[in-house]
Amino acid sequence: MAGLVEMWDGRWVLGRIEDGLPTFRWGWVPEGLATRRQLRALGLRPGGQDPVAQIKWRRGRRWAGLYRVDLAMPRRTPTAAQLAAVGAALAARRRCVGCGRDAGYVVPRVERLCGDCMDNTTASQEQRFVVNTFSREHTAQQQDAA
Ligand SMILES: [Zn+2]
Repeated sequence: MAGLVEMWDGRWVLGRIEDGLPTFRWGWVPEGLATRRQLRALGLRPGGQDPVAQIKWRRGRRWAGLYRVDLAMPRRTPTAAQLAAVGAALAARRRCVGCGRDAGYVVPRVERLCGDCMDNTTASQEQRFVVNTFSREHTAQQQDAA
C-alpha cells in the first residue's frame, strides 16, 4: 500500500500508513525525522513528543518510532563542568595528605594517607618511641651519675 503520505509539515513523501502512522523502511525516512537512538547520537531526546511516524524493518517485525528533530530537546547529560567537578572530588579523595600524590585509590577517610605514607608514619612513630625511651633512660642515668 505504498503511496504518498503527508508529513506534519505538509510535505508529501513516499511511504504508507500503518497503525495510523506514516511508515517507512530504512533509507526512506524523510528528512527531519529520527529514531530515539539517532536522536541520542545527536545529543537529543524526544522531549515528551509522541512519534509522528515509524520505521519498520525485518518485514515489519521490528519497528521504531520516528520523532521530529525540530521538537527534540537536549539530553539531560552532565555538562563538562559537572563531570570535571565529580572528577576533582574523586581525585581529592584519592590524594594522600602526606605526599600529595594521587594514590590511585580512595585513601582511608581518617588518615587520608596512601599506603606508603601510612607505613612511613607507623615506622617513624615507632622510631620516635624508641628514641624517646632511650633518651629518657639516658637522661635518668646521667642524673644518677651526677
Ligand atoms: Zn602518600
